[in-house]
Amino acid sequence: MEQDIHILLFYKFVNLGSMEKLEEFRRTHLEECERIGLKGRILIAEEGINGSVSGTKGQIEKYKILMHSKLAFSDLWFKGDVGTASPFTKMTILVRDEIVALKKKVDLGNTGNYLSPEEILELYDSDGHLKENIIFMDARNDYEHKIGKFKDSIQVNTKTFREFPEKAKGLEKIKGIKDKKIVMYCTGGIRCEKASVVLKEAGFKDVNQIHGGIINFVQKYPDTFWEGKLFVFDKRMVADVNNENKKPITECEVCSVSCDLYKNCRNPECDRFVVLCLDCQFKLHGCCSQECFLEFQEYCTKKSLVNQGRKTQVAI
Ligand SMILES: [Zn+2]
Ligand SMILES: [Zn+2]
Repeated sequence: MEQDIHILLFYKFVNLGSMEKLEEFRRTHLEECERIGLKGRILIAEEGINGSVSGTKGQIEKYKILMHSKLAFSDLWFKGDVGTASPFTKMTILVRDEIVALKKKVDLGNTGNYLSPEEILELYDSDGHLKENIIFMDARNDYEHKIGKFKDSIQVNTKTFREFPEKAKGLEKIKGIKDKKIVMYCTGGIRCEKASVVLKEAGFKDVNQIHGGIINFVQKYPDTFWEGKLFVFDKRMVADVNNENKKPITECEVCSVSCDLYKNCRNPECDRFVVLCLDCQFKLHGCCSQECFLEFQEYCTKKSLVNQGRKTQVAI
């Protein structure tokens, strides 16, 4: 019988200590997760923890109890989601320099003001448009913004979060922007913890961010101001967050049919995230264009020749 799979998302900025301590924590925590039977991906760094794990309801409950019993994570906020299949193939824990890579040191005590989902509703007027003098800003990447976003929100064309400080400088061209009310959002809230500091340090005066990110908002108020789907960093890539309004806001890049399926182009030389309908995925063998398909074929031929070469060597 198919069982619901529960997915937890969480992060916390807390000093987890030196490399040695992190490595020890990685080992013991991996054992703990595997003992429970979880699958997922957790990043740890000196600055804290950022992860997502999945399992049955019972396994997830065990994990929550385990984490809340640890002093450093006694107040860890878990955001949940339910699916029918695990979005992860295994359990991994990685030690990194940052739990969300900005490659720039920022004062985490200087983040924007947190807004509740209720306060986000109030950003819109009775016609359903963003009120004047508010800049609603997506702190995520361009490919995430493309398939789902808050109505009337903007994005600064980042391909990776690291580009945010540089790209955000372009905002300064908007007249009087530093005096406007800026409201930022990202998937679960972690990127805003750093992005809001970047804007404050650049002289923006009224910087705010959604508490708990998009996930916290859409769970309370689906079918309101969220348009499209939600990009997620696991096997699913795209998740439904509205109950009724599920209309795609994007089109297949090849044939322009209304579509919100993401595909990582199979040509390793290209490797782009592209919106591709199932028909085009089939016709182009998972590549994003005819050119990519030809390159991919060439790549496969080379690879199989290399492999054959190896086999021959072993045989000799
Ligand atoms: Zn298509
Ligand atoms: Zn391609």
